[in-house]
Amino acid sequence: MNNARAKRGALTLCALIALSAVRGTAVPAGQDSAAVELPILMYHHILKDKTKLGKYTISPEELEADLDWLLREGYEPVTVQQLIDWTNGVGELPARPVMLTFDDGYESFYAYAFPLLQAKGCKAVYSVIGRYADEYTEQEDHHINYSHCTWEQIAELQGSGLVEIQNHSYDLHTNEKGRKGSMKVSGEAVSAYQERLQDDIGRMQELCQSRCGVTPTAFTYPFGGVSEEALPVLRKMGLQAALTCREQVNLLTGDKEELFSLGRFNRATGQSAASLLKREIPVG
Ligand SMILES: [Zn+2]
Repeated sequence: MNNARAKRGALTLCALIALSAVRGTAVPAGQDSAAVELPILMYHHILKDKTKLGKYTISPEELEADLDWLLREGYEPVTVQQLIDWTNGVGELPARPVMLTFDDGYESFYAYAFPLLQAKGCKAVYSVIGRYADEYTEQEDHHINYSHCTWEQIAELQGSGLVEIQNHSYDLHTNEKGRKGSMKVSGEAVSAYQERLQDDIGRMQELCQSRCGVTPTAFTYPFGGVSEEALPVLRKMGLQAALTCREQVNLLTGDKEELFSLGRFNRATGQSAASLLKREIPVG
Protein backbone atom coordinates (compact mmCIF):
# COMPACT_ATOMS: atom_id res chain seq x y z
CA MET A 1 0.00 0.00 0.00
CA ASN A 2 1.51 3.33 -0.94
CA ASN A 3 1.61 6.16 1.56
CA ALA A 4 -1.21 8.15 0.02
CA ARG A 5 -3.47 5.12 0.02
CA ALA A 6 -2.49 4.17 3.58
CA LYS A 7 -3.17 7.71 4.69
CA ARG A 8 -6.57 7.69 2.98
CA GLY A 9 -7.40 4.40 4.67
CA ALA A 10 -6.40 5.76 8.05
CA LEU A 11 -8.50 8.86 7.52
CA THR A 12 -11.50 6.76 6.54
CA LEU A 13 -11.06 4.68 9.68
CA CYS A 14 -10.80 7.82 11.82
CA ALA A 15 -13.91 9.22 10.20
CA LEU A 16 -15.78 6.01 10.90
CA ILE A 17 -14.67 5.97 14.53
CA ALA A 18 -15.60 9.64 14.93
CA LEU A 19 -18.97 9.00 13.32
CA SER A 20 -19.73 6.02 15.53
CA ALA A 21 -18.79 8.09 18.60
CA VAL A 22 -21.25 10.79 17.61
CA ARG A 23 -24.03 8.49 16.46
CA GLY A 24 -23.56 6.10 19.35
CA THR A 25 -24.39 2.46 19.55
CA ALA A 26 -27.03 1.56 22.05
CA VAL A 27 -25.40 -1.36 23.79
CA PRO A 28 -26.12 -2.06 27.47
CA ALA A 29 -24.27 -0.03 30.09
CA GLY A 30 -21.13 -1.53 31.48
CA GLN A 31 -19.95 -2.73 28.12
CA ASP A 32 -17.19 -1.03 26.23
CA SER A 33 -19.05 1.32 23.92
CA ALA A 34 -19.29 4.78 22.49
CA ALA A 35 -21.72 7.15 24.16
CA VAL A 36 -25.35 6.98 23.14
CA GLU A 37 -26.71 10.15 21.60
CA LEU A 38 -30.16 10.97 22.99
CA PRO A 39 -32.03 14.06 21.78
CA ILE A 40 -35.11 14.98 23.82
CA LEU A 41 -37.92 17.12 22.44
CA MET A 42 -40.05 19.25 24.77
CA TYR A 43 -43.68 19.99 23.96
CA HIS A 44 -46.37 21.72 26.02
CA HIS A 45 -49.74 22.70 24.58
CA ILE A 46 -51.39 21.49 21.34
CA LEU A 47 -54.26 23.44 19.79
CA LYS A 48 -56.09 23.55 16.47
CA ASP A 49 -56.76 27.31 16.71
CA LYS A 50 -53.98 28.80 14.56
CA THR A 51 -54.21 32.16 16.37
CA LYS A 52 -53.06 30.51 19.60
CA LEU A 53 -49.90 28.85 18.28
CA GLY A 54 -46.57 30.06 19.63
CA LYS A 55 -43.42 29.15 21.52
CA TYR A 56 -45.23 26.63 23.71
CA THR A 57 -48.22 25.71 21.55
CA ILE A 58 -48.15 23.76 18.30
CA SER A 59 -50.90 22.30 16.12
CA PRO A 60 -51.82 18.59 15.98
CA GLU A 61 -50.61 18.59 12.37
CA GLU A 62 -47.19 19.84 13.43
CA LEU A 63 -46.94 17.09 16.04
CA GLU A 64 -47.98 14.46 13.52
CA ALA A 65 -45.36 15.72 11.06
CA ASP A 66 -42.70 15.46 13.81
CA LEU A 67 -43.68 11.88 14.63
CA ASP A 68 -43.71 10.88 10.98
CA TRP A 69 -40.29 12.43 10.36
CA LEU A 70 -38.76 10.82 13.45
CA LEU A 71 -40.10 7.39 12.54
CA ARG A 72 -38.97 7.79 8.93
CA GLU A 73 -35.46 8.66 10.14
CA GLY A 74 -35.34 5.53 12.28
CA TYR A 75 -35.75 7.25 15.65
CA GLU A 76 -37.51 5.24 18.35
CA PRO A 77 -39.12 7.11 21.27
CA VAL A 78 -38.04 5.87 24.70
CA THR A 79 -39.14 6.46 28.31
CA VAL A 80 -37.16 7.49 31.36
CA GLN A 81 -37.56 3.96 32.71
CA GLN A 82 -35.77 2.59 29.65
CA LEU A 83 -32.83 4.92 30.37
CA ILE A 84 -32.75 3.84 34.02
CA ASP A 85 -32.89 0.17 33.07
CA TRP A 86 -30.11 0.68 30.55
CA THR A 87 -27.83 2.38 33.09
CA ASN A 88 -28.52 -0.56 35.41
CA GLY A 89 -27.38 -2.95 32.70
CA VAL A 90 -30.92 -4.23 32.19
CA GLY A 91 -32.38 -4.01 28.71
CA GLU A 92 -31.12 -2.20 25.67
CA LEU A 93 -31.81 1.11 24.03
CA PRO A 94 -32.84 1.28 20.39
CA ALA A 95 -30.16 2.12 17.86
CA ARG A 96 -31.52 5.65 17.46
CA PRO A 97 -33.33 6.70 20.64
CA VAL A 98 -35.27 9.93 21.04
CA MET A 99 -37.49 11.09 23.90
CA LEU A 100 -40.77 12.97 23.45
CA THR A 101 -41.69 14.94 26.55
CA PHE A 102 -44.93 16.86 27.15
CA ASP A 103 -45.01 19.27 30.09
CA ASP A 104 -47.70 20.71 32.35
CA GLY A 105 -50.44 18.07 32.05
CA TYR A 106 -52.64 19.86 29.51
CA GLU A 107 -55.86 18.17 28.44
CA SER A 108 -54.85 19.00 24.86
CA PHE A 109 -52.27 16.23 25.17
CA TYR A 110 -55.07 13.78 25.93
CA ALA A 111 -57.24 15.12 23.09
CA TYR A 112 -54.67 15.49 20.31
CA ALA A 113 -51.31 13.90 21.15
CA PHE A 114 -52.46 10.67 22.75
CA PRO A 115 -54.45 9.46 19.69
CA LEU A 116 -51.44 10.18 17.46
CA LEU A 117 -49.09 8.32 19.80
CA GLN A 118 -51.49 5.37 19.81
CA ALA A 119 -51.85 5.35 16.03
CA LYS A 120 -48.09 5.38 15.50
CA GLY A 121 -47.08 3.30 18.53
CA CYS A 122 -44.88 6.07 20.00
CA LYS A 123 -44.01 6.37 23.69
CA ALA A 124 -43.98 9.72 25.48
CA VAL A 125 -43.18 11.24 28.87
CA TYR A 126 -45.96 13.34 30.41
CA SER A 127 -44.94 15.67 33.26
CA VAL A 128 -47.92 16.58 35.42
CA ILE A 129 -48.42 19.45 37.89
CA GLY A 130 -50.28 17.94 40.86
CA ARG A 131 -52.18 21.05 41.89
CA TYR A 132 -53.79 21.45 38.46
CA ALA A 133 -54.65 17.77 38.20
CA ASP A 134 -56.41 18.11 41.57
CA GLU A 135 -58.23 21.29 40.56
CA TYR A 136 -59.47 19.96 37.22
CA THR A 137 -60.51 16.68 38.82
CA GLU A 138 -62.64 18.61 41.31
CA GLN A 139 -64.17 21.15 38.94
CA GLU A 140 -64.36 19.13 35.66
CA ASP A 141 -63.79 22.24 33.51
CA HIS A 142 -63.01 20.88 30.07
CA HIS A 143 -61.97 23.80 27.93
CA ILE A 144 -59.25 22.72 25.57
CA ASN A 145 -57.65 26.17 25.43
CA TYR A 146 -56.53 25.95 29.05
CA SER A 147 -57.81 22.81 30.79
CA HIS A 148 -55.56 20.25 32.43
CA CYS A 149 -56.17 16.52 32.64
CA THR A 150 -58.11 14.99 35.50
CA TRP A 151 -56.53 12.18 37.52
CA GLU A 152 -58.86 9.75 35.78
CA GLN A 153 -57.51 10.79 32.39
CA ILE A 154 -53.92 10.68 33.66
CA ALA A 155 -54.46 7.15 34.97
CA GLU A 156 -55.85 6.15 31.58
CA LEU A 157 -52.78 7.61 29.83
CA GLN A 158 -50.45 5.74 32.19
CA GLY A 159 -52.44 2.54 31.76
CA SER A 160 -52.01 2.65 27.99
CA GLY A 161 -48.39 1.59 28.33
CA LEU A 162 -47.37 4.40 25.95
CA VAL A 163 -47.35 7.34 28.34
CA GLU A 164 -45.03 7.60 31.32
CA ILE A 165 -46.21 9.97 34.07
CA GLN A 166 -43.52 12.10 35.70
CA ASN A 167 -43.36 14.67 38.51
CA HIS A 168 -43.53 18.36 37.52
CA SER A 169 -44.06 19.38 41.19
CA TYR A 170 -47.26 19.57 43.15
CA ASP A 171 -47.42 23.34 43.53
CA LEU A 172 -44.08 24.83 42.50
CA HIS A 173 -44.99 25.64 38.90
CA THR A 174 -45.24 29.31 39.78
CA ASN A 175 -43.21 32.49 39.99
CA GLU A 176 -44.26 33.77 43.37
CA LYS A 177 -42.50 35.73 46.09
CA GLY A 178 -39.23 35.75 44.21
CA ARG A 179 -39.12 31.98 43.72
CA LYS A 180 -38.83 30.71 40.18
CA GLY A 181 -40.35 27.25 40.08
CA SER A 182 -38.50 24.84 42.36
CA MET A 183 -35.37 26.99 42.62
CA LYS A 184 -33.87 28.13 45.88
CA VAL A 185 -34.51 31.78 46.69
CA SER A 186 -31.44 33.88 47.30
CA GLY A 187 -30.80 34.10 51.06
CA GLU A 188 -33.09 31.17 51.86
CA ALA A 189 -31.57 28.66 54.28
CA VAL A 190 -30.64 25.44 52.50
CA SER A 191 -32.41 23.30 55.09
CA ALA A 192 -35.66 25.30 54.78
CA TYR A 193 -35.49 25.14 50.99
CA GLN A 194 -34.85 21.41 50.93
CA GLU A 195 -37.66 20.75 53.39
CA ARG A 196 -40.12 22.68 51.26
CA LEU A 197 -39.00 20.93 48.09
CA GLN A 198 -39.21 17.54 49.75
CA ASP A 199 -42.74 18.25 50.98
CA ASP A 200 -43.89 19.33 47.51
CA ILE A 201 -42.22 16.53 45.56
CA GLY A 202 -43.24 13.94 48.13
CA ARG A 203 -46.87 15.05 47.97
CA MET A 204 -46.86 14.62 44.19
CA GLN A 205 -45.12 11.23 44.38
CA GLU A 206 -47.82 9.99 46.76
CA LEU A 207 -50.63 11.39 44.63
CA CYS A 208 -49.34 9.67 41.49
CA GLN A 209 -49.11 6.43 43.43
CA SER A 210 -52.61 6.69 44.88
CA ARG A 211 -54.32 7.98 41.70
CA CYS A 212 -52.39 6.12 39.00
CA GLY A 213 -50.60 3.30 40.78
CA VAL A 214 -47.16 4.54 39.72
CA THR A 215 -44.37 6.41 41.46
CA PRO A 216 -42.59 8.85 39.13
CA THR A 217 -38.90 8.25 38.50
CA ALA A 218 -38.06 11.73 37.17
CA PHE A 219 -38.48 15.32 38.29
CA THR A 220 -39.15 17.83 35.55
CA TYR A 221 -37.82 21.19 36.77
CA PRO A 222 -40.59 23.84 36.49
CA PHE A 223 -39.45 26.45 33.92
CA GLY A 224 -36.17 24.51 33.73
CA GLY A 225 -34.95 26.30 36.87
CA VAL A 226 -32.21 24.19 38.46
CA SER A 227 -30.67 24.68 41.92
CA GLU A 228 -27.80 22.46 42.93
CA GLU A 229 -29.32 22.15 46.42
CA ALA A 230 -32.29 20.32 44.86
CA LEU A 231 -30.28 17.27 43.81
CA PRO A 232 -29.89 15.67 47.27
CA VAL A 233 -33.65 15.99 47.71
CA LEU A 234 -34.42 14.33 44.39
CA ARG A 235 -32.17 11.42 45.34
CA LYS A 236 -33.65 11.17 48.83
CA MET A 237 -37.13 10.96 47.29
CA GLY A 238 -36.02 8.01 45.18
CA LEU A 239 -36.02 9.91 41.89
CA GLN A 240 -33.46 8.72 39.37
CA ALA A 241 -33.60 11.36 36.66
CA ALA A 242 -34.32 15.04 36.06
CA LEU A 243 -35.43 16.89 32.95
CA THR A 244 -34.02 20.38 32.37
CA CYS A 245 -34.50 22.93 29.57
CA ARG A 246 -30.83 23.08 28.58
CA GLU A 247 -30.85 22.84 24.81
CA GLN A 248 -28.34 20.08 24.15
CA VAL A 249 -28.23 16.53 22.92
CA ASN A 250 -27.51 14.10 25.75
CA LEU A 251 -24.49 11.86 25.45
CA LEU A 252 -25.09 8.89 27.70
CA THR A 253 -22.23 6.65 28.74
CA GLY A 254 -24.13 4.56 31.26
CA ASP A 255 -23.21 6.76 34.25
CA LYS A 256 -26.35 7.13 36.42
CA GLU A 257 -25.45 10.75 37.25
CA GLU A 258 -26.01 11.79 33.65
CA LEU A 259 -29.72 11.14 34.02
CA PHE A 260 -30.05 14.01 36.52
CA SER A 261 -29.24 16.69 33.94
CA LEU A 262 -31.05 15.67 30.78
CA GLY A 263 -31.18 18.45 28.20
CA ARG A 264 -34.20 19.12 25.97
CA PHE A 265 -35.10 21.16 22.91
CA ASN A 266 -38.26 23.24 23.08
CA ARG A 267 -40.42 22.70 20.00
CA ALA A 268 -42.16 25.95 19.08
CA THR A 269 -44.68 26.36 16.29
CA GLY A 270 -43.12 26.91 12.88
CA GLN A 271 -40.13 24.74 13.76
CA SER A 272 -39.96 20.99 13.29
CA ALA A 273 -38.29 17.98 14.86
CA ALA A 274 -36.22 17.85 11.68
CA SER A 275 -34.98 21.44 12.01
CA LEU A 276 -34.21 20.99 15.72
CA LEU A 277 -32.32 17.74 15.38
CA LYS A 278 -30.52 18.48 12.14
CA ARG A 279 -29.15 21.90 13.03
CA GLU A 280 -25.71 22.40 14.55
CA ILE A 281 -26.46 21.73 18.17
CA PRO A 282 -24.16 21.37 21.16
CA VAL A 283 -23.60 17.85 22.36
CA GLY A 284 -23.01 17.39 26.06
ZN1 LIG B 1 -43.91 23.38 32.98
